[in-house]
Amino acid sequence: MNFKDKIRVISDFPSPGIRFKDITTLLNDGEAFRAAIDQFSQFAAERNADIIAGPESRGFVLAAPMAYALSKGFVPIRKPGKLPHETISVDYSLEYGKDSLEIHKDAVQPGQRVIIADDLLATGGTIGATIQLVESLGAQVVGVCFLVELSYLNGREKLNGYDVFSLVQY
Ligand code: 5GP
Repeated sequence: MNFKDKIRVISDFPSPGIRFKDITTLLNDGEAFRAAIDQFSQFAAERNADIIAGPESRGFVLAAPMAYALSKGFVPIRKPGKLPHETISVDYSLEYGKDSLEIHKDAVQPGQRVIIADDLLATGGTIGATIQLVESLGAQVVGVCFLVELSYLNGREKLNGYDVFSLVQY
């Protein structure tokens, strides 16, 4: 499967000069979507994942079907104010601004092996914040997977020491 062919590049979105990688075209292709989830699920299974986490909102689209395929639980990492029970939160900077993310305090257990999935690795801010949330609850991040990695932004350097998998690189 040539996943790069399935991704559409949109110039000047969301602001001038940005070449946005649109993954909706990959999701729209049933075979490509399944092949991507299969590869991610295999990556997670090989690392004996106990549970799969994904940051809002494109991370949900990948992490939830992985969890289903592996009969594991799914953990949503959300924007502030969305999760109803007790949460912890972390602030982070992203490619186009600042934000924060939250996780339910009881969403992962100490010692659990967690895989995190998201659509795209840019600067690594989003995934770094997600890792911080999972680890501050005592769980272990045993791998992170992305559809797309923007290698020229060096996000992987921020993830030094973590097991990083991406399907397509720019
Ligand atoms: P980072 O935090 O690594 O700088 O940025 C990654 C986050 O921003 C991801 O959650 C991703 O959804 C979003 N993002 C940044 N650039 C792009 C892009 O070109 N395409 C898509 N689909 N998402 C992007």
